[in-house]
Amino acid sequence: MESSKKPTNFIREIIDDDLKTGKYASRVHTRFPPEPNGYLHIGHAKSICLNFGIARDYQGKCNLRFDDTNPTKEEQEYVDSITQDVRWLGFDWEDRLYYASDYFEKLYAYAVELIKRGKAYVCDLPLDEIRVFRGTVNEPGKDSPFRNRSVEENLGLFTRMRQGEFGEGDRVLRAKIDMASPHMIMRDPILYRIRYERHHRTGEAWCVYPMYDFAHCLSDSIEGITHSICTLEFENNRALYDWILAELDAYHPQQIEFARLNLSYTVLSKRKLLQLVEKNHVCGWDDPRMPTLSGLRRRGYTPSSIRNFCEKIGVAKFNSIIDVALLENALREELNKTAPRRMAVLNPLKVVLTNYPEGQTEELNAVNNPEDPAMGTRPVPFSKIIYIEQDDFREDPPKKFYRLSPGKEVRLRYAYFITCEQVIKDAQGNIVELHCAYDPATRGGDAPDKRKVKATLHWVSAAHAISAPVRIYDHLFSAAAPEAHAEGEDFTVHLNPHSLEMLSGAKLEPSLKQADVRTRYQFERHGYFFVDPVESTDKNPVFHRIVPLRDTWAKIEKKQL
Ligand code: ATP
Ligand code: MG
Repeated sequence: MESSKKPTNFIREIIDDDLKTGKYASRVHTRFPPEPNGYLHIGHAKSICLNFGIARDYQGKCNLRFDDTNPTKEEQEYVDSITQDVRWLGFDWEDRLYYASDYFEKLYAYAVELIKRGKAYVCDLPLDEIRVFRGTVNEPGKDSPFRNRSVEENLGLFTRMRQGEFGEGDRVLRAKIDMASPHMIMRDPILYRIRYERHHRTGEAWCVYPMYDFAHCLSDSIEGITHSICTLEFENNRALYDWILAELDAYHPQQIEFARLNLSYTVLSKRKLLQLVEKNHVCGWDDPRMPTLSGLRRRGYTPSSIRNFCEKIGVAKFNSIIDVALLENALREELNKTAPRRMAVLNPLKVVLTNYPEGQTEELNAVNNPEDPAMGTRPVPFSKIIYIEQDDFREDPPKKFYRLSPGKEVRLRYAYFITCEQVIKDAQGNIVELHCAYDPATRGGDAPDKRKVKATLHWVSAAHAISAPVRIYDHLFSAAAPEAHAEGEDFTVHLNPHSLEMLSGAKLEPSLKQADVRTRYQFERHGYFFVDPVESTDKNPVFHRIVPLRDTWAKIEKKQL
């Protein structure tokens, strides 16, 4: 049953070995265990693709489990968004949707069992003293004065903790391991604490809540997980994971750590993303500039492009930063094949074709996707007044500027060659329109005498164009590593003030009047665009750019000017 379709990695090698030796009776059962304290981001997608992908390729199972043991930060809104996002990515947990909170009773019983086995005790030290008693990496800790309470006393106190007899922070339940352990995490870690807080699912039923390390390994055990895959930060926690299961003689999954995804120009921490939302640096969790799955979905990313990205980056045992361009490229690769081409002029400059008959309109044939002839052609209207991009004209062109300038000839895509004859300016000297001559012999875009032009411009007919708001997004952060910042500063100092540009004068070809919210378009020479599903209304689409094209010209031009 070894996976044949997918490239292997160190996790799959461990699983292959376990299957060979018959460990876990040749089952493969993984889980994706989000805490419902925020929206999922692209880092979570890596974990989702890994866990559900392994289950799929080994004919195993993958559970979706909410790790909801901390009532202070968790909400139903997050549960709903997480289930929606996992489904959107294309994965199915079938009937295996679980909540760690469903195990509260079982977890409590396990804690009682640990006490009975002399492996846990109720400690009355305040939290800051527990910290001091823990020692440092270089110095062993000191035993708590409550460490040697009898089993009976511990059982009595733990029951009273549950019954709400004590205040928050008055007492905790701790594992009795080793205050001199070189693993700090093994110095009698806290297993349960008191919290008088409403839980989003269990309400007021509980006032003692298990800590992550206690709840997580036992939830995995209860669900019969075989391979518990988590990120590298939990490498140290593995000792505790293994200790708890061993001391309880519980079914024991194998924890395996891999490197979390870090992306350039991006922060991937729910705490920081929450801060961006709460401080209104963005317009919500689904702001198209957010690295959340809901932001990427609204931006126009497809689930398949995200899955392909996750597969391409693979999994490793060391941390690194992946270039966000890889994510953008995964989308370009897909949309290049599937997105219909359209013409849109984002910053229009009026062009009057002086020799074109007044009042005439004709339809020209435009190819929908040169990569896919099956997508056919569409008619695009042409007339005496058209718009081109302001950037496509220079009165005083630098060297190697091949686009339109006085006296120069260029091609209008799918239409005609035009030559610039006159530049019209307003009283302030701003260019307001061009007068050009068109060559009727070049209809369709080729000259019968085979003369060449060096540039092809996109355009729209002024009389037929539609107007729509267009948003151009850039990276939310201007620093490649926004999490690195000076002492006393906060990552928000790196926010890019130009991450959102709003264009109100754009002119689009008329076929975009029926633009579909599910379709990604390529606006020729500008990139891939999407109808914003939140801001648009039926009659008034708002377009935004998902990603630019790889625009080598822009780079050349920047160097030159
Ligand atoms: P954050 O650091 O963003 O707050 P988290 O690890 O606290 O994330 P959880 O809800 O606990 O968020 O994560 C659920 C699962 O997703 C965990 O198994 C975690 O290891 C994994 N995960 C979280 N962030 C990343 C990431 N950047 N790359 C890969 N996996 C991740
Ligand atoms: Mg977490």
